[in-house]
Amino acid sequence: MTAILRTAISDTFLVAAALMIVIGGCDRSAPPPSLPTPAAAKKAESPQSSSLNRRDNQRPGTAANRDATTETDPHAIPEARASASLPEPIHRPDDQRPKHDDRRLAEAGIRLYESKRLKLYTDIDAEAARTLPPLIDAVYLAWVEYFGDMPPDRAGSEFQMTGYLIRDEALFREAGLVPEDLPMFEHGRHRRNEFWMREQKYDYFRRHLLIHEATHCFMTFLPGVDAPVWYIEGMAEYFATHRLAPDGSVTFRIMPTSPEDFAGWGR
Ligand SMILES: [Zn+2]
Repeated sequence: MTAILRTAISDTFLVAAALMIVIGGCDRSAPPPSLPTPAAAKKAESPQSSSLNRRDNQRPGTAANRDATTETDPHAIPEARASASLPEPIHRPDDQRPKHDDRRLAEAGIRLYESKRLKLYTDIDAEAARTLPPLIDAVYLAWVEYFGDMPPDRAGSEFQMTGYLIRDEALFREAGLVPEDLPMFEHGRHRRNEFWMREQKYDYFRRHLLIHEATHCFMTFLPGVDAPVWYIEGMAEYFATHRLAPDGSVTFRIMPTSPEDFAGWGR
């Protein structure tokens, strides 16, 4: 009798245990699969670096561990070899933008509008032009939030781009602002931290194209970016898709809904 009871208890336990495993599995798979949000992904990484800003041989503690080994291990790597393999500090590329004679350009009808992150040379109306550099300062914060901090350069200067927003192309060519070897472009073109774009009919698409080209410039200076063209173009479109509220606040990376809110984008 006792043996039968023990067997029954044992069987009940096994069934319960099996159920717990099955239910446990259901619980684990219950939430719908989701990708981590960029912000969550960033939080999951070390606080001072993103995956784009970190090289594999620069994990925290690597150098310190190597130093400790050098002091105590008779078979340690000789000092010269050890220091040769220490990680290099990461710098973004140097700023090689040409300097322009702003007064001469203004006399020719090309005016400079400048913010912390953008110098914009353009011959379009001042009312529209002066709103554009602050837009790039705003999207810069969105880039950093998504990609991580831009590394410093060797000169210790702030990251800034130069854009040329062109209505009269002959004027810009005459002023020497369009490099002879710059390939032809229909809408816009970037090179390092400079970009060229044509004036647009619609305010929305002028801003969209400006952010698109500026995103290319930013990503060009990020270390470790080795991505296919569709990804580079996709990220530029992702950030460029924006909403400007009546109070002047702007939101990037939005879902495009009604075509009339994105005038000129259907290229
Ligand atoms: Zn592009």
